[in-house]
Amino acid sequence: LASREVVKEKTAIEIGPEKFPLGGNRVGVIAGPCAVEDLDQVLKTAEKVKEAGCIGLRGGAFKPRTSPYSFQGLKYEGLEILAKAREETGLAVVTEVVSLDNVEAVAEFADVLQVGARNMQHYPLLEALGKVNKPILLKRGLCSRLDEFLLAAEYIINAGNKQVILCERGIRTYEEYVRNTLPLASIPALNERTHLPIVVDPSHGTGHSYMVPAMCRAAVAAGADGLLVECHLDPEHALSDGAQSITPEGLTEMVKSVTKIAETL
Ligand code: PEP
Ligand code: MN
Repeated sequence: LASREVVKEKTAIEIGPEKFPLGGNRVGVIAGPCAVEDLDQVLKTAEKVKEAGCIGLRGGAFKPRTSPYSFQGLKYEGLEILAKAREETGLAVVTEVVSLDNVEAVAEFADVLQVGARNMQHYPLLEALGKVNKPILLKRGLCSRLDEFLLAAEYIINAGNKQVILCERGIRTYEEYVRNTLPLASIPALNERTHLPIVVDPSHGTGHSYMVPAMCRAAVAAGADGLLVECHLDPEHALSDGAQSITPEGLTEMVKSVTKIAETL
């Protein structure tokens, strides 16, 4: 179902008022904090994200943290904060659904439902998302092969929802200078095999904010349709993933530079 042999054309997915991929050399950038921390943070960030020319606001309300002692997200309150940011900016809201218990709530508030890397093989969750009439952003599992990634997408499509966006966010390797190894060759490989749109997340893909703009440019040059980027007003004091979060100024610069690259393709 996800195969290019079956459908040649890229799947067009509605993200808020936009059709994704955007076309016309425009890169679809979704940016925002790793986690929703409070209303003021999200509204201020959303304004900057909008000004930078992004199409979506990301932010986790339900957070799948590696440690149970880390900040777990504002949960339902976080969803309401995201909805306010959409009201004020018109940006589409992209937020994660971590469990079968909150599919309905997240589907009510979000414009795009994210499945995190840790849940890529949560098959009952994927099947439940197949029944939702909203786009799903499916992240590649930490140790998944591309065929497993595509089969996970098939679970969603097979259950009835064709609106799937694939997200390469890096995989675990022996290398330690990065949080994850970001395999950009997966972009042409996926473009060859599937008609589903592809976004790249260089924030989780590297773990270091200084690497993010360069990998955004590389991802676009390699054929990514969009980017998912963590952006924080004050990365040093972020409640999660500050080290890999770029500032709003960094985001504005990054969007300009990837747009230039997209114009040459
Ligand atoms: C996230 O996007 O904040 C996240 C938790 O990502 P991943 O599932 O790729 O680790
Ligand atoms: Mn994060």
